[in-house]
Amino acid sequence: MANDAPGSHLRSSPGPRNELTFLAAPKRPRTRNDRCVSGGMERRQRNHQGRQEALDKKTVIDTLSPQQRSERMARVRGRDTKPELTVRRALHARGFRYRLHDKRLPGKPDMVFPGRRKVVFVHGCFWHMHGGACSLSRMPKSNLEFWRPKLEGNRVRDAMKLEQLHALGWKVLVVWECELRDMESLLTRLEAFLNEDAGGTK
Ligand SMILES: [Zn+2]
Repeated sequence: MANDAPGSHLRSSPGPRNELTFLAAPKRPRTRNDRCVSGGMERRQRNHQGRQEALDKKTVIDTLSPQQRSERMARVRGRDTKPELTVRRALHARGFRYRLHDKRLPGKPDMVFPGRRKVVFVHGCFWHMHGGACSLSRMPKSNLEFWRPKLEGNRVRDAMKLEQLHALGWKVLVVWECELRDMESLLTRLEAFLNEDAGGTK
């Protein structure tokens, strides 16, 4: 390449350069803007790395089947869990229609029946501390200092949301995960709750 030849840069410069004036040329002081530009480039670089890591992580998640991924995410978000889907399907098959996770209502109820002014929650026994005789809700034996405040926080929050819903005139039924072992009696209870005061219409 011609550019690699020694002295080629001299040929491409506009004319003979006075080396002294070149050295004496005052440097333009760095402005605030300069710093922003270089900072921005660093930030972009970091963001790019972050995105790349996120993409790498996503690739790992994407090796799961859609069903597996949905179950995994449900465990994180506490919605669309297996018990919840079971109850939803059973009610849908019986002709009930509902809205899901309505953000406008306290606690984002799993199922909202606006016409009846009723909501249904499907609670995992562990996360919502079913307690009593429920075998699914035992407090973990280790790491109690982590689990106890976390789970008790859930319980307090649940109670608060329930009160808020009642105050707004909503009737609430909580279905516990362990109750799904006897679907027949659970559905009897659900239908009785939903049809109560509904004048027999669905
Ligand atoms: Zn339970």
